[in-house]
Amino acid sequence: MKKITILGATGSIGDSTFKVMENNPDDFSVVALVAGTNVGKMCRLCQKWQPKYVVMKDEGAAKALSQQLVSLGLTKICIEYGVDAMCQVCSLDEVDVVMSAIVGAAGLRPTMAAIKAGKRILLANKESLVMSGQLFMSAIREFGAELLPVDSEHNAIFQCLPAEAQASLGYCELDNLGVSHILLTGSGGPFRYSPVNSLVDVTPEQAIAHPNWSMGPKISVDSATMMNKGLEYIEAKYLFNASVEQLKVLIHPQSVIHSMVQFKDGSTIAQMGEPDMATPISLAMAYPDRINAGVNKLDFSQIGELTFIEVDYHRYPCLKLAIDACYEGQFATTALNAANEVMVDAFLQRRIGFTDIAALNEKVLERICSGENPSNQLDLESIIDLDNTSRLYAQQILNEY
Ligand code: NAD
Ligand code: MG
Repeated sequence: MKKITILGATGSIGDSTFKVMENNPDDFSVVALVAGTNVGKMCRLCQKWQPKYVVMKDEGAAKALSQQLVSLGLTKICIEYGVDAMCQVCSLDEVDVVMSAIVGAAGLRPTMAAIKAGKRILLANKESLVMSGQLFMSAIREFGAELLPVDSEHNAIFQCLPAEAQASLGYCELDNLGVSHILLTGSGGPFRYSPVNSLVDVTPEQAIAHPNWSMGPKISVDSATMMNKGLEYIEAKYLFNASVEQLKVLIHPQSVIHSMVQFKDGSTIAQMGEPDMATPISLAMAYPDRINAGVNKLDFSQIGELTFIEVDYHRYPCLKLAIDACYEGQFATTALNAANEVMVDAFLQRRIGFTDIAALNEKVLERICSGENPSNQLDLESIIDLDNTSRLYAQQILNEY
C-alpha cells in the first residue's frame, strides 16, 4: 500500500488521481490533501478519503473547511494552511508518493520539499520545473528522489525511451541510447483552423473549451496559445536532457498519439491512448507495474485518420517565445513563466485580449532581460525573487496597457 500526498487535490489532475485510486483501492491510501480555496470540494474529498492532514492556501479557507467538517462530525482531520504546512505534509516519513498538481509557480516550494525528503514525485506541475530547471533535476539526484512525469507527452516519451533513460532522467545521453529525435505532439488547441486575424476576438469561454482534453482554466488557455507546448518543450529539455536539434514540436489534432521517439535505425515509437490523464497518472503511480486506470482502450476501427501539421509560429507566438527563452537560459524561462501566469489571469478576467497574452509576455521578457547581469545559475531563493520581480513588471505593463 503506497501512501500519498496530493498537492492540488481539488483540481482536474486531482480528479484523475482519485479515479485511479478508486480503481485500485488496495494499492494506495491518502495521507494529506492540499488545495487553494475550494472549501466545498475539499470537504467532499475529506468525507470520502478521510485524510490525516489537509492544507489550504490561507487561513480563511482553513477555518471555513474546519467549520464544515465539524458540522459533519469529522473532527479527527488536522487542518492547516500556508506554504510551510504544504511543505511539511510532503516531507512526512509516512508519505511515499507526492502528486505535484498545484497550478503555477505556487507548486514550486512544496514540490522541492518533497524532493528534499526523497519521495517519489509524480510531476504534473510543469511550471515548477520550467522555473527551476537544472536546480530541480540536480535536487532529484542529490536527495535520491524518484521523478515520474505525469504530463501526458512526457509520460509518453518516458514510455517510449529505453529503461536506461527512464532510470536517469535529467542526465540520460540520448545520442548514446540510439535516440535521434523526440517529437512532442500537441493538438494545436481550439483555434488551430481559425483565421489568424480572427484570434484577436477570442473570448475566455472559447479559449478554455479544449477540443480533446478536459483541464483546469490556466492550462486550457495555455493550450489555446500553445504556451503549454512551449512550457512542455522546456520541461522535455530538462527531463530528457535533450538538445535543440533533438526536440521537435508537431501538431497532431486528434490527440491519439501523445508523443513519439525516433531512433537512429529509422524506428519511431509512439505512445497512444484515449485523452484521459488517468492513464499517465496510473503509470506514474504504479511504475514499473501497470494497473487498471479505468480508461477505455483505443478502438482503432473508430479512430479514422491521424493527421500531422507543421507548427506555424505566426499563429502561436507564445510557443516561439518559450522555445527562444529555453535557449536563452533559466533567467528567461523563469521570467516568461511568471509573466504568462499574470497575463493568462488578466485574459480570464477580460482585462486583455487573447493575442495580447503573447505581446505582453514578450514585453516583460524584454524588460527583465535588459536588466543587470541576468545570471542563469540561480538558487531557489533567487528563482523565487526573479518570479516576484517578473510578476511586478507584468503588473506594471498591464497597468500601462
Ligand atoms: P486546476 O486549476 O484544475 O487545479 C489546480 C489545483 O491547484 C487546485 O486544487 C487548486 O486549489 C490548487 N491551487 C491553486 N493555487 C494554489 C495555491 N496557491 N496553493 C495550493 N493549492 C493551489 O489545474 P489542473 O488542470 O489540475 O492542473 C494542475 C497542474 O497540472 C498544472 O501545473 C498543469 O499544467 C498540470 N497539468 C494538467 C493537466 C490536465 O489535464 N489537467 C495535464 C498536464 C499537466
Ligand atoms: Mg501535456
